[in-house]
Amino acid sequence: MLKFVLNQKIQFVLVRPSHPGNIGAVARAIATMGFDQLALVSPSEHPHPESRARSSAALDVLLNASVHNDLEDAIGDSGYVVGTTARNRRISVPVSPIRDFVDEIVRISDKQKISIVFGPETSGLSNEEIDRCNHLVYIPSGEKYSSLNLAMAVQVVAYEIKMSLSPDEKIIPDRNLASGQEMELFYEHLKEVLLETGFLNPRNPKQLMRRLRALFNRAELDENEVNIMRGILTSYQKPKE
Ligand code: SAH
Repeated sequence: MLKFVLNQKIQFVLVRPSHPGNIGAVARAIATMGFDQLALVSPSEHPHPESRARSSAALDVLLNASVHNDLEDAIGDSGYVVGTTARNRRISVPVSPIRDFVDEIVRISDKQKISIVFGPETSGLSNEEIDRCNHLVYIPSGEKYSSLNLAMAVQVVAYEIKMSLSPDEKIIPDRNLASGQEMELFYEHLKEVLLETGFLNPRNPKQLMRRLRALFNRAELDENEVNIMRGILTSYQKPKE
């Protein structure tokens, strides 16, 4: 059975979100990436039927969200605060593209709680709110239009953090790779046929066979595929009628 471990060290904070739909979509965005800590600072309407609907199966994340009067209160127990911004702001807080900063977010979150703060849909974070941040991140965008929808910005940031937390995550194919013995029998068979057809030089068979081995080893053949290859080889060996 799979054990799902939720990351509770990273908190997503929405400052004065004005659309309940966005709040619900944010709950879903973070839940799908393995997070559940959502904080809302003065949401215009919460909870709301629209946010419930948009949260889909992440209703628990939405309903468990903490609600605060100001940013100060929401980040009170965070040792580090990262702000997000669509605009290039002339301020002294250091700014990085999110991908360049996620490893640092993950490293910091190992030791202490960290808040990732998102601004209101229309205006973004105020300068005072930006001043509360240790670092700013942005999602690189097209030149003409850099402002993503709030929930989409949260999705991208949560995804980047998730990938940094488990970069090796791959979908492991559910197939039985051919055994070493099966592969050896295949290479023998291949060599036999290539000698028969004259493609392989009998005086120097090693060079080509090594390259063919490298080729098929890269392909990671499964048992079925080796059988197909053996069948093809056998079909060459049958006398043509
Ligand atoms: N008009 C506002 C953007 C508000 S979008 C402005 O120019 O700042 C609402 C929030 O989504 C932003 O405050 C930010 O938290 C997030 N966001 C949107 N686009 C983003 C981007 N390209 N990079 C990082 N965060 C972004």
